Amino acid sequence: MKSSHGKCSLYLQPAQPLYTATPVSTFISALQQTGLIAKRIESQHDSNAFFSGDKYLDYIAYMGCAPAIQFEASAHNDDFCFIKIHQYPTAELIHSQKQARAPHCPACNKAVKNWQHTKTSTSILCQHCNTTSAIETFNWRKMAGYGRLFIEITDIFPKEALPQPLLLYKLAQITGTDWLYFYSCR
Ligand SMILES: [Zn+2]
Repeated sequence: MKSSHGKCSLYLQPAQPLYTATPVSTFISALQQTGLIAKRIESQHDSNAFFSGDKYLDYIAYMGCAPAIQFEASAHNDDFCFIKIHQYPTAELIHSQKQARAPHCPACNKAVKNWQHTKTSTSILCQHCNTTSAIETFNWRKMAGYGRLFIEITDIFPKEALPQPLLLYKLAQITGTDWLYFYSCR
């Protein structure tokens, strides 16, 4: 099953695509206080990777039969659930390589299948209605996000787990902006 889906993650991002956490260390400390994340994973190449915190399962609800969640790496398994904080110098589009969905144009609501050919760093031209719109105004159907700050929770297949309203509320409290979520598979 994993091979057909690829490696998938759940992402959370501020609704404002240009929002940044300054400094990001303050944001990370606030996330640690909520119990979403615990200590930094020193063995990871990416230094902004964290173990899940003791309140993790209050914030992320697994649907149906919950998988065996590996919260800590063992010698024989580095394929475990952890949380990465990404912050980019400019807004980036994170979109699913597998299970991709065409985004829907905000002007005509049609699926724009060839969007990768008409995309710039900030906008996409819809060839159905010949309208150019900002990337974040397209409906990515929860399979992509455009922004500078992301929380990535690894090893979650699309719709396998949902962020709870409590988490979205806490993130809004910390940052003063609403939060969205999506899934992406590599
Ligand atoms: Zn259109």
